[in-house]
Amino acid sequence: MHVLVAGAGPAGSVAARLCADLDLDTVLVEGHDEVGRPVRCAGLVSPRALETCGLPLDGDYVSRRIRGAHVHGPSGRVIEMDGGNTRALVVERDRMDAALAKAAVDAGAELRTGTTARLQGGEVYLNDERVEPEVVIDASGARALAAGEHGLGPEKVLPAVQTTLEGAETLSDDFVEVLTGNRWAPGFFAWAVPVNDGARVGLATGGPGNPWRLLEKLLREHPAGGRLSGEPVSREPGPIPIGPPERTVAGNVLLVGDSAAQAKPTSGGGVYTGSVAARAAAEAAHGFVFRGDSLDRYEDLWRREIGRDLRFGMAVHRTMCRSTDGDIERLLSIVERSMQLVRRYGDIDHPSRLALALAKRPWIALPLAALYLKTRLNPLRRRYPG
Ligand SMILES: Cc1cc2nc3c(=O)[nH]c(=O)nc-3n(C[C@H](O)[C@H](O)[C@H](O)COP(=O)(O)OP(=O)(O)OC[C@H]3O[C@@H](n4cnc5c(N)ncnc54)[C@H](O)[C@@H]3O)c2cc1C
Repeated sequence: MHVLVAGAGPAGSVAARLCADLDLDTVLVEGHDEVGRPVRCAGLVSPRALETCGLPLDGDYVSRRIRGAHVHGPSGRVIEMDGGNTRALVVERDRMDAALAKAAVDAGAELRTGTTARLQGGEVYLNDERVEPEVVIDASGARALAAGEHGLGPEKVLPAVQTTLEGAETLSDDFVEVLTGNRWAPGFFAWAVPVNDGARVGLATGGPGNPWRLLEKLLREHPAGGRLSGEPVSREPGPIPIGPPERTVAGNVLLVGDSAAQAKPTSGGGVYTGSVAARAAAEAAHGFVFRGDSLDRYEDLWRREIGRDLRFGMAVHRTMCRSTDGDIERLLSIVERSMQLVRRYGDIDHPSRLALALAKRPWIALPLAALYLKTRLNPLRRRYPG
């Protein structure tokens, strides 16, 4: 076995497909009996994310096209951010993950479900069988395999919860809703993503508070809560690790996707970034097995593509953790005044592109810098770790 990929989420299946495409003898293992379940995702991805995963945009896993967002400020006012055309897709993660695993198998990888990988004292086990892969791609998600073995943890883990509510009504079928404010989702935000017959409503926090209680409170007390309420058909809790460890290569183990905390700290989205890292991991594994290159190449390959956005995202996250509701309102006013730039440069996968565009306009950059310094320099604002 050249490569063992642990975990058949998007990062693992994409890595396994690309490894098999590169003629590496690849085994993909999934601890659950079925790929894609349980689902822990709002399913909002960019068209680019699906392309990077190697999936067509018209598969049966795509349930809706999204062209913008309605952003609720803490005061209750709503800003419409209309991208004008399709900016994101709503996917059914169980079907999408199954399609990705099938693509890996079609490319020649061997898929073993109901098989748990374990690293122990430098050895690798599948259930209780010892195996000797040349490379291990740890794509085991938030509870990363390699974290315990090699001490490679994320900078922070955001608690997140979500429930699919039948009968919930978003303001529009092709807009998501983002609900901000420290009362509802301190240090992060809540969301509502339209799906057939309802919406996926959830939140993550960067600070204290039981996220389920916060979600119940939001549905009960937020001005939009009545409209977004409905009959719960599923509950999807899950941690979102953010802030990658300093190293994502340990011996012959490469950490990919949530196990490397590669989700975007600005949105919690990890499908795109995980698939970018999966491509880097496959390339590094190929170089290692067939040319004797160092696996450290993986580190450079993925950081070159998404490292800046993740670093920028962590800076934004730390600022959000120290922002008052007034700061958030001021930020939204700046966004409202810069709508043309937001439309032109806004990119959910690469948020730093918009920041760079804004930074070049002094009339926007100055109030933004003032807001940033105010939240960073005042020690009384250090309410949440971040
Ligand atoms: C509530 C919520 C909403 C989200 N919404 C979005 C969104 O809208 N858009 C977006 O892009 N991202 C979203 N995310 C983040 C996204 O779900 C993750 O970033 C993404 O699933 C990470 O992919 P992955 O392949 O790294 O890990 P996972 O998808 O977690 O897959 C890991 C797989 O490994 C398996 N596994 C674990 N341990 C082992 C083991 N020892 N042996 C074998 N198999 C193992 C697991 O069963 C699992 O199937 C959301 C997360 C949460 C919690």
